Amino acid sequence: MENNEDTRVRFAPSPTGQLHVGSLRTALYNYLFAKKTGGKMLLRIEDTDQKRFVPGAVESLIKWLRWSGIAWDEGVFVDPEKIKNHKSEIVESKNYEGVLEAGNFGPYIQSERLDIYRKYAKQLVAEGKAYYCFCEPQRLEKMREDQTKNGKSPMYDRFCLTNLKEEEINENLKKECPHTIRLKIPRDEAVVFEDVIRGKVSFSTNTIDDQVILKSDGFPTYHLASVVDDYEMKISHVIRGEEWLPSTPKHVLLYRAFGWEVPMFAHLPLLLNTEKKKLSKRQGDVAVEDYVEKGYLKEALVNFVALLGWNPGKGKTQEIFSVEELIEEFELSKVHKAGAVFDLKKLDWINGQYIKKMSADKLYVQTLPFFERKEFFMKAPEECKNEEYLKKVLAIEQERLLKLSDVGEENKFFFNDIFVYDVGLLAWKDMGMDKVEENLKVAKNLLDGISGNDWTRESVAKILLEAAGENRGEFLWPLRVALTGEQRSPSPSDVAWVVGKEECLRRIDRALALMK
Ligand code: GLU
Repeated sequence: MENNEDTRVRFAPSPTGQLHVGSLRTALYNYLFAKKTGGKMLLRIEDTDQKRFVPGAVESLIKWLRWSGIAWDEGVFVDPEKIKNHKSEIVESKNYEGVLEAGNFGPYIQSERLDIYRKYAKQLVAEGKAYYCFCEPQRLEKMREDQTKNGKSPMYDRFCLTNLKEEEINENLKKECPHTIRLKIPRDEAVVFEDVIRGKVSFSTNTIDDQVILKSDGFPTYHLASVVDDYEMKISHVIRGEEWLPSTPKHVLLYRAFGWEVPMFAHLPLLLNTEKKKLSKRQGDVAVEDYVEKGYLKEALVNFVALLGWNPGKGKTQEIFSVEELIEEFELSKVHKAGAVFDLKKLDWINGQYIKKMSADKLYVQTLPFFERKEFFMKAPEECKNEEYLKKVLAIEQERLLKLSDVGEENKFFFNDIFVYDVGLLAWKDMGMDKVEENLKVAKNLLDGISGNDWTRESVAKILLEAAGENRGEFLWPLRVALTGEQRSPSPSDVAWVVGKEECLRRIDRALALMK
């Protein structure tokens, strides 16, 4: 891959909670784009909204990003091992214990850059492009109420811009009157910018309020902080969710006010639920953690998320992609404009595909914690809990398993030998009970005759199928019910193989006794 030092992208989450699946997609697309173009990706923390701060959220974000396999080159890290060969100096974060920052454009945590934003805000005031606003919240509220009453959309009436003389402003500042700094938005102009996904986007400046860029607590608003950082960190492409599209004209106006070059924008489509409404917390899980908890694999989740708004293009039907393949195929310009439906059925299918391909060892290691949480497992006899036994259960279930958390759910008879069933279920269609008894006895003798070493999945199957001949239903159905107590289950030979000869014979005896 060519080394394109000029392409620089960023993932800039606000630490307000867990990593959302939508944020995982934004981070992933940034990562794929950086890898594909030979550029760099950085992780920046946008924590200037003090009200929304959640303790532990930065660490959790980093943990889950790393878990997903997304690797960034610069910015915020927690694992010193990952950056020990980093070319630039590594510093400890001032505001977050145990968090490190690496790269030449730091700090990468916005709450550590407050002086920088203040400097730029004041610069705009000095140039007449922004102004101090001393309006009290009560006045602003009343103004908005009146505007709404008169059918107008609420907008700052520029009281402080038009009424305050320089002496008054200086006096107010000297008295430390609470104030904000607002950007003077030009009137009657169009703000036009290029979006890689949407093409030319245009907004009228008349719809844009004089934005507060520095709040009364001295913190920047998202708009100022994001623009200043993207400029200082030399970001070439801003790839983020569509919910930020209405903010972009404000950003473009800020770039203009500073006289800085505007980066390329790419706004990723909204995530929708199957009713085509915006995906929200209220309707279900949105945190990556929740999906892991539910038994989805990392590879499957990343693969699924990659397809939320992107596919390799016409005529290409591939749906299963490794990260390497995604890097190879991904193109920002092929991302769709239309909202992407978060379809759990598709996630299940993708997950199932990955489960099918897992090695027996890996499947065992990954499913064990799920087994251990299940009541049927806790209550199961000890001999059903060992690795060898569980691997056999998994060998049977693997083909149809969609989520790791589903293990054993359909086949609890592997863990419970006292299941109850109706004797009538032992008969295949209208076969008589005499025949059921006879066939069960034949099966029992055959199974009894298999020596311990020959008790393999293949040989048990072969012997039973041969004995069944043409009469598969009459021979295999009663045996299957005797072994499982279920209408539907894996084949009797598979069940026999898993539970072992002794248990198998015991279950047949139990069925025979039940028929007496
Ligand atoms: N901090 C914003 C967020 O949490 C980032 C928006 C952007 O990428 O500009 O989504």
